[in-house]
Amino acid sequence: MAANEDLFKKITSHAKEYGFVFPSSEIYDGLSAVYDYGPFGVELKNNIREYWWKSMVQYHENIVGIDAAIFMHPTVWKASGHVDAFSDPMIDNKDSKKRYRADVLIEDHIQKIEDKIQKEVDKAKQRFGEAFDEKMYRETNPRLLENQSRIDTIKKRFYGSFTDNNLADVKLLIDELGIVCPVSGTKNWTEVRYFNLMFSTQMGSVNEDTNMIYLRPETAQGIFVNFLNVMKSARMKIPFGIAQTGKAFRNEIVARQFLFRMREFEQMEMQYFVQPGTELKEFEYWKTERMKWHTSLGIPATKYRFHDHDKLAHYANAATDIEFEFPIGFKELEGIHSRTNFDLSAHQTYSGKKLQYFDQESGESFVPYVIETSIGLDRTFLAVLSHGYREEKLEDGSERVVLGLPSFLAPVKLAILPLIKKDGLPEKARVIMDILKYRYRCFYEEKDTIGRRYRRMDAIGTPYCITIDHQTLQDNTVTIRDRDTMLQDRITVDGISDIVREKIKAV
Ligand code: ATP
Repeated sequence: MAANEDLFKKITSHAKEYGFVFPSSEIYDGLSAVYDYGPFGVELKNNIREYWWKSMVQYHENIVGIDAAIFMHPTVWKASGHVDAFSDPMIDNKDSKKRYRADVLIEDHIQKIEDKIQKEVDKAKQRFGEAFDEKMYRETNPRLLENQSRIDTIKKRFYGSFTDNNLADVKLLIDELGIVCPVSGTKNWTEVRYFNLMFSTQMGSVNEDTNMIYLRPETAQGIFVNFLNVMKSARMKIPFGIAQTGKAFRNEIVARQFLFRMREFEQMEMQYFVQPGTELKEFEYWKTERMKWHTSLGIPATKYRFHDHDKLAHYANAATDIEFEFPIGFKELEGIHSRTNFDLSAHQTYSGKKLQYFDQESGESFVPYVIETSIGLDRTFLAVLSHGYREEKLEDGSERVVLGLPSFLAPVKLAILPLIKKDGLPEKARVIMDILKYRYRCFYEEKDTIGRRYRRMDAIGTPYCITIDHQTLQDNTVTIRDRDTMLQDRITVDGISDIVREKIKAV
């Protein structure tokens, strides 16, 4: 197993063992790609959401929030294009009964040829040493050239068939390439079909006319349809933003990467309404702002990169992803898109309502352009968790697992621990707990040796442990232990709050 896959597995089981994330309905063997957050997970998730909300809504005077319902009028999804185009091409293997995304099967096949090329290049590099000219080698080696031309031919055919919606040709290509099912090893494939990712359900009782409605696949449409209500009621002037966090649902075909690809997940989105013509400047502004936000989580900038889209959706005039280096590689964490006036115009057409902004200065009305920032809360959770997870060998030869979470996001800020369970120490610890718990999320524990309790707090990322010992009873001082350095200081009980407040400030 690759080292990183191994790490990913460790993080997944750590998350379960320490009450961060559980498989949904686990006693019934779980539900694929659906997860529940446990006692510490929910705190971390709430803290990330709150930090995002503050950064977007509280710190920007021209951004306000909403909380739209998950159920929306079915025509919303017709107007947004989701009914007709929010789909992936799928194919089933008749022997294994496994379902795959046809585009992913072909991309994986291309990747295998690319890996072959890379292997040859690496081998040659070793053979020739310093003198190796990689560019020339790639341009002249016949075997490499042949493989590269195979890739080019496949890509051309593949993109062409998708653009022409020619799914029969996609199937033909899979046959011609001899792609086999990774599970059964056979080429016994069904036809390729489009599979809409939206979940649907019925609204209304059996006696009434029932209506098919969808579970929203993104939160953004709740913002677009409320554009007028928000603008009028909150007296917003362009440029202004509307932010929202909430659940979204997608019936993902390939969903087996823990929190990275879920069927029920949470998004944090902001739509920024601007004057047409200013959108590319605003797009650049939000690119920079959002990257700053990510690095303010205490994660180094090298773990992030932009991935600008070469192929833009028909309604976008600029788009980029912020990718994060997860244990499974660099993958999308947030999308930033300049969506022109596509969504508002479509809703204007379908609803027959004018969705425009009246500019008092010029006396003109227009449909605003939109910059969207759309980030997955669960993927951010996974980024923070996987970056924070570390296994340490200590000087005395023992080992510990630490979640090096930024203190301001940690589920528990302070552990209150009486050294032993007698001599009046628990009673004194309770007094301290009662003072501090109204300010910080604290955790009281008196069971087990102090060393074990420290380890448990390290494993859930608690930045500080307060220990109440016999000296506390004499001079009202306690020890405060730092999670990362494991060093302890002696401080007065009255000073705890100030010290902790200073230490857990957002970066
Ligand atoms: P991907 O290409 O990975 O499927 P996407 O481009 O479809 O993602 P968007 O529609 O731009 O994603 O959604 C915005 C954000 O929502 C993504 O950047 C991601 O963080 C999050 N997200 C999307 N799909 C999922 C999912 N199935 N599980 C968890 N988070 C998701």
